[in-house]
Amino acid sequence: MEQKRKISLYKKIRRDFHVRVEESEKKHRNKIIALALITLLLASALLFCAALLEKSTKGQYVYYYGDVEQKIKAESETHVVDFIALADFCSMTKEVSINNASFEINNTKASFTNGSDIVKINGISIKMPSAAAIKNGYCLVPLSILERISHGLNIVTDKNETTIQIEGKIFMIAKDFEVSYETDVTEYLEYIHSKDEYIYTLVNKQNPVDRTFPEDQDALIEIPEEYRKSDVIYLHYIAEKALEAMMQDMFACGYNDTYVTSAYRRYDKQQQIFDKYVNDLVNQGMSYNDAYAEVLKDTALPGQSEHQTGLCVDLTTKTIVTVDNRFADTEVFAWLQDNAWKYGFVLRYPEDKVNITGYSYESWHYRFVGYDIAKIMHQTGLCYEEYLENFGDN
Ligand SMILES: [Zn+2]
Repeated sequence: MEQKRKISLYKKIRRDFHVRVEESEKKHRNKIIALALITLLLASALLFCAALLEKSTKGQYVYYYGDVEQKIKAESETHVVDFIALADFCSMTKEVSINNASFEINNTKASFTNGSDIVKINGISIKMPSAAAIKNGYCLVPLSILERISHGLNIVTDKNETTIQIEGKIFMIAKDFEVSYETDVTEYLEYIHSKDEYIYTLVNKQNPVDRTFPEDQDALIEIPEEYRKSDVIYLHYIAEKALEAMMQDMFACGYNDTYVTSAYRRYDKQQQIFDKYVNDLVNQGMSYNDAYAEVLKDTALPGQSEHQTGLCVDLTTKTIVTVDNRFADTEVFAWLQDNAWKYGFVLRYPEDKVNITGYSYESWHYRFVGYDIAKIMHQTGLCYEEYLENFGDN
């Protein structure tokens, strides 16, 4: 009997102990669950706050066009810019209707259409990363497209990418898109794209050079026989290499009766030519002063001719032979109008720039200025003097 009671007491103690242990475990478990719940709540709250914060900073972009501030509500991840505000800042001409917006500066033009991701630059279609939105007096376009289509702007974005500082001025809306050549001109590209200071030399009536120019006579090399008249003609080697690329493509297009009739002309030679023209007129009965004035209209005084730089060529055809404006009626002239810039050459004395260049229209005279400047002159229609005046610092 005694033994039996002992056993049952023992069982009770064991049972009580189990109950206590279970209770304690339960409490512990509840504590953990509560803690987990609190942690979860805190984490969610934190995440929510972070999302809110992010939304509030990503909610709008602040632009500074110089000192002028503009705030734009951000509606997507892509940074946009308001081309209308930009046009006002850069003094562009603008034309905005419900669905279209066009902007023009220095004869270069960009046209956007609402909802379309195509921008037309001087008639060429360029795809943008996202569509343009024309509404509420804005013309919102992807910020990144500016870099591709314009020259002259400096865009700085802060590290949060919400403040965008725009400095400088767009001086043209056009860049080179897919320049193609007729033949493989790879070996000439380094010359076409040369940035050698010499190729920018300006020689005109206001900027003459002396008898000893150019200092480096060794830089003048012969133009290959197939591209010139029978006499040897020299050209500065950079212009000469670019000329070879141009002639090679010109010939490939079927204009193989075109050739260089004059290029580098030394000071003494200019003097001889000038004197000969004056004498010819005097011999025809004109007074010396009148003859001198007449020749001066079309012929440079020694030192005032660009030919002394070795950076320009006079072109003619086997049919025309001499240098005159019959060249303007040829097909090769039309080809040069469209293509000469790709090789760094420009028509130096255009018909509508006589009062600026100081020279009569010379459809045959092409000057090498290098790809970058030739491209801008081609796209803007500026002559070299105008280019230097407007963009000479760039
Ligand atoms: Zn010439």
